[in-house]
Amino acid sequence: MNPLASPPRAWAEIDVSALRHNLRAARDAAGCQVMAVVKAGAYGHGLEQVATALAAEDIAFFGVANVGEARRIADAGVSTRIYLLGATWSEERAEIVARDWTPCISSLDEARHFDDLARAHGSRLKVHLSVDTGMGRGGFVAEGLPEILQQLEGMPNLEIEGIGSHLSSADEDEEFTRKQMAKYAAILASLGGPERFVWRHLSNSAGLLGYERESCNLARPGLMLYGICPLPGHSIALKNVMSLKSRVTLVRTLPAGHGVSYGKTFVTTKPTRVATVGIGYGDGYPRHVSGHGAEAFIRGKRYPLIGRVTMDQIMVDVTDSEVAEGDEVEMFGPNIRVDEVAAKADTIAWEILTGITPRVVRVYA
Ligand SMILES: *Cc1c(COP(=O)(O)O)cnc(C)c1O
Repeated sequence: MNPLASPPRAWAEIDVSALRHNLRAARDAAGCQVMAVVKAGAYGHGLEQVATALAAEDIAFFGVANVGEARRIADAGVSTRIYLLGATWSEERAEIVARDWTPCISSLDEARHFDDLARAHGSRLKVHLSVDTGMGRGGFVAEGLPEILQQLEGMPNLEIEGIGSHLSSADEDEEFTRKQMAKYAAILASLGGPERFVWRHLSNSAGLLGYERESCNLARPGLMLYGICPLPGHSIALKNVMSLKSRVTLVRTLPAGHGVSYGKTFVTTKPTRVATVGIGYGDGYPRHVSGHGAEAFIRGKRYPLIGRVTMDQIMVDVTDSEVAEGDEVEMFGPNIRVDEVAAKADTIAWEILTGITPRVVRVYA
């Protein structure tokens, strides 16, 4: 079925070749192998579709948030290794061992449990040591790590294959980021040097774009794969992947002094042509942009949103235009960057992308 045959009110066009382009750009910029981060349904772009589209590329791992996501990738027939980016529930671990996914280890308890499960399964599980260099979300802190590694090495059914850490502020605090990197390098040195680990990884998109990372041989880009550069002003050429679209459902002219939308936060000051568009916060378009100068792109031009974003509809001032019912409307995409929408909603592009709801039909081209 062509999903546009009976048009949904809102849809997201996903440009798969742009995704591949961005992956290659990420690998070139990193100068090493990559783990493609596809958590949260590939940042709202569709987990199976993105994993399948990237599987033929040279990727060391797919990075996911949980076993449910790992399962969806594996069940889609993708054989690329799968890495779990955060701590795991104990109930998830038997499947991780059975399907040979790669967890990161933040505690000896987790490690012992994996070791026991791998023994019972008759296998040796590759795991990565997670170290906390400043993120404060997971991993071992530096103190006592050499002894901890020794204990881990005493677990016969675990192979300590890699060591990872995570940057908290690579897009906003260069000095702190350099400290985290130095701490990571010092930890590696204290554990026998980088060569001790097959995989060494630290950088998200901002980290791999903004910094040299001598001690790493794997980078973990997420956002940049989807075409958004987290470092303002960076020159890397990424291609837009998702375009969020809708259509004009109605065009009317309202007289001066007429309120628009809930709370009448906008009142016309002159006769105003108002287009109603079939998208709202029920689709993930953020209500918080209301009153902050958000725009919609119609017939090659930007027009201002007026009044509050409602659940299923928004209003746009199209005075002095030929905009008509049925016209296609871009809410973000190549002409209005998603980071612009995010800034007007006082949030980040990651949240906007992952917040696009299931009602929005994803169309792949
Ligand atoms: C989400 C995540 C990434 C990707 O971050 P981006 O900023 O989207 O590139 C990398 N590593 C870890 C551990 C993550 O949780």
